[in-house]
Amino acid sequence: MLIKTQGYNYEVKYRPGADMVLADTLSRLPNPENDGDIELDERIDGIETEFEDAERHTIAIINFSPEKQNSLRSQTANDTKLHVLKELIQQGWPESIKDLPKDLRPYWSEPKFRDELATESGVIFKGRQVLIPDSMTADILTQLHVAHQGIEKTRRLARERVYWIKMNDDIERVCRSCSVCAEHQDANPKETLKPHDLPTRPWQSIASDLFEISGRHYLLTVDRYSKYPLVDEMPTQVTSHAVTQKMQCYMSLFGRPDEILTDNGPQYTGQAFQLFVKRWGIRHVTSSPHYPKSNGFIERHVRYIKAIVKKTQQNKSDLYIALLQVRATPIDSKLPSPAELLFGRTVTTLLPSRADPGKVGHRQHLAHRAAVMKEHHDRSCRRELPPLRPGQHVTVWNKERRTWHPAVVQQKCNEPRSYVVQTPNGNMIRRSRSHLRGPYNTQVQQTVKRTHLVEPPTLDEDQEDRSDPTQPAPSCETESKPPDPNNPQTVRTRFGRAVVKPMHYRDYV
Ligand SMILES: [Zn+2]
Repeated sequence: MLIKTQGYNYEVKYRPGADMVLADTLSRLPNPENDGDIELDERIDGIETEFEDAERHTIAIINFSPEKQNSLRSQTANDTKLHVLKELIQQGWPESIKDLPKDLRPYWSEPKFRDELATESGVIFKGRQVLIPDSMTADILTQLHVAHQGIEKTRRLARERVYWIKMNDDIERVCRSCSVCAEHQDANPKETLKPHDLPTRPWQSIASDLFEISGRHYLLTVDRYSKYPLVDEMPTQVTSHAVTQKMQCYMSLFGRPDEILTDNGPQYTGQAFQLFVKRWGIRHVTSSPHYPKSNGFIERHVRYIKAIVKKTQQNKSDLYIALLQVRATPIDSKLPSPAELLFGRTVTTLLPSRADPGKVGHRQHLAHRAAVMKEHHDRSCRRELPPLRPGQHVTVWNKERRTWHPAVVQQKCNEPRSYVVQTPNGNMIRRSRSHLRGPYNTQVQQTVKRTHLVEPPTLDEDQEDRSDPTQPAPSCETESKPPDPNNPQTVRTRFGRAVVKPMHYRDYV
């Protein structure tokens, strides 16, 4: 029954028997005389995880740059302790901890620790955490502390991604001994927080403010639900127009919030910003004696982000990597990271972490879409293009610049689907029919003469070429030559189908 009901969201409520109109199935189901196994219509014999399917080798199991993955694998393999650990994971643990070498005992002693360990593709995992060999911990510690967050936050960021014995101690040591952190320690006494209505969903209510560090101006916008911060350096003259432009960009990325909380600064009370909130239908709440609401929220975040900007400036480290760490660090032990609250998924950082494959349904549908598009493209390529006459105005594909340029057809070559065309500077070039488009009228021609076309011109009535000009064009600089029969390379798609080159591309093998 549990299996049958798992597709529903239900709530179990107690109702006295006297209030029940009909006795329902549930009240009669438990039968004390029959305590044997209940026969189920459906039975689960095994669960196949996504990593166990045929695609296991094509799906990344770890988020880390390929070079660093290789280095992680080789350093894990070269670590004698981890080498033995890997064997233990694969072949089983001894009966007693005493049978383990001393340096491997910590992997046993913690409850459930052993059961969480697994190896895959040369990497050891502890649950979702990637086990880091000793030789790499210094590197990872530097990465973990790039945003100069405190001990607890750095630990929370680490616990989502990596593991090594003594990781917590090492993080504490690094944070305590950091001179940049010591210098910027928060001296502000804690304020009492004003209670205010909390948003109930991501990106419903956002707060925004400007701050300045040594003459440089920054715009900070924070989602009040997820605490996801957006930081942008602004031009020296921060106008209402400049702030509005950034805001519009955020709205198009994350959607329209219900309200924006700001102070009474001229950038927010200015005409451009006022027009923007009106057009987007956003309630603009400014701090005033009547609305002291959540002013503290953005002030706290300004202090926090300001400190990070200062620390990265002083340390000459990358602000954007630091901000990514802030967004990827769980808010507290019960709340995930701002990014996860806002996007519903963890974001990858420069630190290693276990990779989550996309949803199976989505992956299959994307593969299907790609196959359909390829089919459509190939079908249109196979269609013969209409011949061109000498004197016709056409555009010719420039492979280097990836643009179409005007030309006039001079003559048809003896080779099939090949023409000599003259460009406006008098050059005579030979091109395949598939790299010539036309005819088109002289008005268009005037336009192309004045400006370089970045986009291919609109297709003419004949619609002769549906191929995507952004796809790599086959080489047309060389003389035509027949395909080499000694090298019949059959290219196959990832679905195993042989790729048949369209007839008119045959000359350009
Ligand atoms: Zn620090």
